[in-house]
Amino acid sequence: MTHRDVWDGLVGQDKVVSFLRKSSTEGTTTHAYLFVGPPGSGKRSAARALACALLCEDGGCGTCSVCTRIKRGSYPDVRVYEPEGAATYMVEQAREIIHDTNLSPVEGPLKIYILDRAEAFNPAAANALLKTLEEPPDDVVLILLTISWESVLPTIASRCQVVRFAPVSPSTAVALMAERSGVGPDDAMAALAASGGVIPRALDFISSPVRRAARGRLLGVLRDLPVMDGRDVLEAARELLTSVKAPLDEVRVRQEAELRERVEFLGKTAGSLKPIEDRHKRELSAREREGIGELVNVAGSWLRDVAATAAGAPELVANRDAADDIAAAASCIGDRQLARAANAVSEARRRISYNVSPQLAIEAMLFDIQEAITCPRSWE
Ligand SMILES: [Zn+2]
Repeated sequence: MTHRDVWDGLVGQDKVVSFLRKSSTEGTTTHAYLFVGPPGSGKRSAARALACALLCEDGGCGTCSVCTRIKRGSYPDVRVYEPEGAATYMVEQAREIIHDTNLSPVEGPLKIYILDRAEAFNPAAANALLKTLEEPPDDVVLILLTISWESVLPTIASRCQVVRFAPVSPSTAVALMAERSGVGPDDAMAALAASGGVIPRALDFISSPVRRAARGRLLGVLRDLPVMDGRDVLEAARELLTSVKAPLDEVRVRQEAELRERVEFLGKTAGSLKPIEDRHKRELSAREREGIGELVNVAGSWLRDVAATAAGAPELVANRDAADDIAAAASCIGDRQLARAANAVSEARRRISYNVSPQLAIEAMLFDIQEAITCPRSWE
């Protein structure tokens, strides 16, 4: 490679990169892709890179206005969707996507749709989308993302070109984080743990002081849980939820900038702001769910750290800044208690995916972890 371009960020995916790069330069891209790979393998980044390669005049330079806006998520002809229901895509959402594919591109020659969590298409939503997947308008490229091919409805998978992503090792992820944000290995590991190993999310996390503060608050709560009473736990859950909502202001500022940009570009009469405003609302609720997911991730990684320390492998601790508290907890929590606490975390994940109120899910998780890890008096 002689120059840097938009594909450079995809570490550990040489085969995928050379395939997509080749098809975009040779003009042999297809209309529907299914990117399959574990969390953190770079599917979203690859989808955006492919969008840049197809829309940028230099084939994805990574630095022009088109590439920059695609990467930032504000280019009008690249749309990113994820399930609007907590667990599945809604039929209405599929219809909205189809309707949108029939409109002309706003700015470029193509419109690109990135549909995250393609496994969340239930049969009804998938049926609505099938015809578009099979024969999208000529100026449309659909890129569906999923963690496993088996989990996607066969009617969807069979209509897409499947591109498989390899898992990225933790050490590669840490090295990439360091290269991108200059962050040290300890902070990189903590951010990856909070973000479920997804590198772009971890990079976002690093750049958000309010999200880092929410993590710090939760680590403090986990440390203090054994000595908290019921009212303290409820108060802690409330505070954590407030801290999860704080980063939404960061999202709102970006959204307002996008709306202003759109109005400047199209004029106020365009009447096309409604879909953007709707997308912004969805983004806000997705961002809130992600923030709550982060809390659950941090709790899960803290418990893994306690288990690793108890098993005599403190070098595996991801939350290095809490290593002392983790060691203290490891000295008194037994295997069975840890297993029960880990169950509390999975249960919280399940509750959140079923749209249980976040407040209730976090309260229940803290109470369950507290019950599991508090050292019985007879041990003292
Ligand atoms: Zn470019």
